[in-house]
Amino acid sequence: MTNKNRFLWLGGKVMHIEDATVNVLSPTAQFGANVFEGIRCYWNEEMQQLYAFRLPEHYRRLKNSMKMFRMEDKYSIEELESALIEVIKANEYKEDIAVRQTVFIDGFGSWNSTGPVNMFIAPIPKSRMLNSSKTGLKCCISSWERISDKNISPKVKVGANYINSRMAQMEAIENGYDSALLMNNQGKVAEGPGSCLFIIRDGVLITPPITASILESITRFTIIELARNDLNIKVVERDIDRTELYMCDEAFLCGSAMEVTPVLSVDKISIGNELPGSITEAIKEIYLKVVSGEIEAYSKWLTPIY
Ligand code: PMP
Repeated sequence: MTNKNRFLWLGGKVMHIEDATVNVLSPTAQFGANVFEGIRCYWNEEMQQLYAFRLPEHYRRLKNSMKMFRMEDKYSIEELESALIEVIKANEYKEDIAVRQTVFIDGFGSWNSTGPVNMFIAPIPKSRMLNSSKTGLKCCISSWERISDKNISPKVKVGANYINSRMAQMEAIENGYDSALLMNNQGKVAEGPGSCLFIIRDGVLITPPITASILESITRFTIIELARNDLNIKVVERDIDRTELYMCDEAFLCGSAMEVTPVLSVDKISIGNELPGSITEAIKEIYLKVVSGEIEAYSKWLTPIY
């Protein structure tokens, strides 16, 4: 599908992607004054259905971001959801997609303007994270520190936060890695530029707590629940030291876009034998089944689009 046949939702209307424009002087364009969610929808061929994953949780986080950003509470949960469904239907997508749902400061304001508040919703085809030629990521520890709740909180999913992510990712790529892991201002491991981290030591799944300068990731909560309830794996939320990355048995990044992606090495120190570990693989398998509607017990997390 070319851009020509794609539609997005802007300010209450579904329109062609080329017709959706924003003022260059708007606080969103100039200062990154927008909060957003990256939402995945997975196509289930057998059911002929597209399922949006954990929409209520995304909308709760979006509304929290708007609140912390002191934005007018302009959209109800029902409006957020029905606009998303409307624009996906307009595109007639029957494949896996990623949706960016962004509430932004429009108009001619400055960096401190609180309105006018506007929204766009852009659904775009996106296949699953890893293809067969790549089994995982080689990461480095970033020289950049993760933003913290004391300056620009990682809990507010604001566009401007991604400058911190961008610095870390660009440095990593420049130095020959696939991605980076950022440390927080307490000197503990926080997260990746756009994903959360789990490590496995002696069969225990360990992830930094939500106070470790991380986004309150929906995938992270999902994995904690699946690991405990379905895979019988012990999960511990605690600080992770940098050196634990060098001595752990397995590690993976997770997120709506990242899904479950193995970390094969950190700072060129191998994790295991630089192949995806068995616990990571088990988590990835159940996660991908859950999101695509293959496990009845978790249909509670899915919103059918059609
Ligand atoms: N951390 C950061 C910085 C992110 O951008 C994302 C992606 N939204 C995540 C973690 C993962 O969050 P989620 O599982 O809700 O997609």
